[in-house]
Amino acid sequence: MTKIIGLTGGIGSGKTTVANHFRVAGIPVYIADDEARKIMQSDEINAEIKKKFGDTVFDNGILNREKLSGIVFNDPEKLKLLNAIIHPAVKKHFSSWILNQKNAPYIIYEAAILFESGSYKDCDIIITVTAPLELRIQRVIQRDKTTRENVLSRINMQWNDEKRIDKSDFVIENDTTEIAKSAVDKILKILKIQ
Ligand code: ATP
Repeated sequence: MTKIIGLTGGIGSGKTTVANHFRVAGIPVYIADDEARKIMQSDEINAEIKKKFGDTVFDNGILNREKLSGIVFNDPEKLKLLNAIIHPAVKKHFSSWILNQKNAPYIIYEAAILFESGSYKDCDIIITVTAPLELRIQRVIQRDKTTRENVLSRINMQWNDEKRIDKSDFVIENDTTEIAKSAVDKILKILKIQ
């Protein structure tokens, strides 16, 4: 049976970058946030969003994700409503994806909100990626061409590192690529993957 390694961490910690180190080592990687984004474009999910949030989040029939994010960002009840549409759809998609990975002893399931969404319960092993707060802020400002305030408000929506680490089997410090890569190698050895 393929084992699920949940990979999480705060925004800008470098989850996707670390996931790529595992991919290079031959482990299949599922990026839940990317899949959620794709799923949000499907007709079925759009219809559900329209039912719950109305026409105002659509421009000429196309979902305006920024408008929707703006609505759910400051309203926990609305966020719950959106998550109740998206999370089960991602779960269903992941279930069929993992069926195609039968020959892999492990897969990586990367999600920013692994704990917040409850998906950690389906994982056999959990890894948290960390980096110093200021470094994370600077990485995201550079990557997303956004403001410090915007990054901080997104960070404040998520669990903190202490809480994540408490529930994790491994922690990968991603202060530099070298440090992160050697931590990945160590985990691969412990799990007898390499
Ligand atoms: P999010 O939660 O927003 O998806 P993330 O945790 O997946 O973020 P990444 O997208 O992997 O983070 O990394 C954020 C940015 O920091 C990217 O532009 C990435 O290239 C850069 N980065 C990540 N790790 C390092 C590193 N060790 N050295 C330099 N830059 C890095």
